[in-house]
Amino acid sequence: MRSKELAVTRQLCLAIVLSLVGSGLAQQSPPAEHSSHAASHAAPSADEVWNSLMSGNGRFVAGKPQTHALVALRHQLASGQSPKAIVLACSDSRVGPELIFDQSLGDLFVVRTAGNVADAVALGSIEYAVDHLHSPLLIVLGHQACGAVSAACSGEKMPSSNLDAIVERINPAVNQAKTYAKGNDLIESAVKENVHQSAKDVLANSEIIRTAVKSGKLSVIQAEYELDSGKVVRLNSPASSQN
Ligand SMILES: [Zn+2]
Repeated sequence: MRSKELAVTRQLCLAIVLSLVGSGLAQQSPPAEHSSHAASHAAPSADEVWNSLMSGNGRFVAGKPQTHALVALRHQLASGQSPKAIVLACSDSRVGPELIFDQSLGDLFVVRTAGNVADAVALGSIEYAVDHLHSPLLIVLGHQACGAVSAACSGEKMPSSNLDAIVERINPAVNQAKTYAKGNDLIESAVKENVHQSAKDVLANSEIIRTAVKSGKLSVIQAEYELDSGKVVRLNSPASSQN
C-alpha cells in the first residue's frame, strides 16, 4: 500500500509541477529587449534595411522628413534597443546619420570619428552592436570635402599625436588616390578610397565582424554622403561588400 501511495503522491507532485510550469510559461511575457531581438532575427534583411534607409534619404533630400512620436518612442525604447543598422561615419557636423537617413531614436547605432577611421575604440563599438544587438548591416559612410581627408592630402605635419593618429589611418587611402588623381580631384578620390580603406580595416582588424560577415549575419555597405545634394551614394556593389 505504502509504495502505491508513494507512486500516487509522486504523480500528483509531477502533475502540480507541470501545471505550474505550464501556467508560468503561459503567463510569462518575454522581456522587451528579448522580444525586439526576436523581431530583428525574423527580419528585416540587410538589403531591406538599406532600402528603407535609402527611402529615408530620399525624404531628407526632398525636405519631407517623417514626424516621430519621440516621447512614446523614448518610453518604448527604455527597456532595450535593436538598431536596424550600424553606421561608421565622420564626426563632421553636416553628416548626422539620423538626419540624412531620416531615422529616429533606436534606429541607428552610430560610431563617429573624424575621417570615419576605424580605430580600436570604433571597432569595439561596432563589435558590440554586431555581437549583442545583432544589427544586420554596417554602413561605412564618408562624405564630400572631408576635412580629415583634406588634412591627410595636404601632407602637413599635424600639431598633435592624436591628430596624427587620424591622418595616419587615412594616409594609405591618399596614397592610393594619388596613383590616379591630382589637384581638385585628389580629395574627392581620397574620400572614396578612405571609405574603402575603413571598410577594409574593419574586416582586417576585427575577428567578430569578419566572422559575422562570413556567416551572412552582417553585410557591409560602403557609401558617400554628398554635402550639396544631400544624397547618400553607394560605392560598392553587394557582391564586393565582403571585400
Ligand atoms: Zn569628414
